[in-house]
Amino acid sequence: MSASCIGRFAPSPSGELHFGSLIAALGSYLEARAQQGQWRVRIEDIDPPREVAGAARRILAQLEQHGLTWDGEVLWQSTRHEAYREALAWLSEQQRSYYCTCTRSRIQQIGGIYDGHCRNLHAGPENAALRLRSDHPVSEFQDKLRGTIKVDAALAQEDFIIHRRDGLFAYNLAVVVDDHFQGVTEVVRGADLIDPTARQIALYQAFGWPVPDYLHLPLAMGADGQKLSKQNHAAPLPSGDARPAIVQALHFLRQPVSEGWQDLPLSEILQQAIARWQVTALPAENALYSNAETQ
Ligand code: GLU
Ligand code: ZN
Repeated sequence: MSASCIGRFAPSPSGELHFGSLIAALGSYLEARAQQGQWRVRIEDIDPPREVAGAARRILAQLEQHGLTWDGEVLWQSTRHEAYREALAWLSEQQRSYYCTCTRSRIQQIGGIYDGHCRNLHAGPENAALRLRSDHPVSEFQDKLRGTIKVDAALAQEDFIIHRRDGLFAYNLAVVVDDHFQGVTEVVRGADLIDPTARQIALYQAFGWPVPDYLHLPLAMGADGQKLSKQNHAAPLPSGDARPAIVQALHFLRQPVSEGWQDLPLSEILQQAIARWQVTALPAENALYSNAETQ
């Protein structure tokens, strides 16, 4: 196995896996395995209020049920606070961050995009968020499926939050510190995370770390026109035979599936999917998911 390519799946334990999260898990797994790479799993449990008891263990069991076996130990973000604190301290020593005491309602009043109000006010940590000084905004980046993604200028220039006022570490900070720590070279995830990508790249650049490749997969949409998510109560993946869901996910990603798959074991279906994986066949458009097919 070559260590040159490392992919990952990084679910938040806010509920069980559903068809939408299976797309991200399977897509990142196949992209890594097709390059003889490693595939890691990280549980993003940095937001206790949004966590559902037992969901993390359930997610890991669902990955096993679907034949998606990972390399190495699972990384739990709840064990990484020290690393996040060190990263924040380093940014602050480099004068790349500052405390901000602005309220959400003030930012709302000025149109929703932060204006850098506290940049030179030298506020202390009391009741404050930490923001990254966006001296080198990332205005575009490459996506392996979508090509050049242009970033809205106002968003690119916004000094974004890296440590929340409520004491929680920001997703963008934790994801970058951990992807770097785990040696991730390929970030494959849902298209709902295209927007934060530019901020994550800005953080890589601030730390002087190599930036991974990005591939944003199409989202599975519910009949309500919203992406399937734990928030809109997408149905958990069925227990038992995982092959219908894997095959449906492969169809969703427009990857070839053998006609007689019903006679093949799950491991064989996955091996074929690895051998036949083609990024160029992936659709960029989000598409409706109908759960009629898995039943
Ligand atoms: N934890 C994030 C989620 O479940 C995904 C993070 C990522 O893939 O960068 O939406
Ligand atoms: Zn402020």
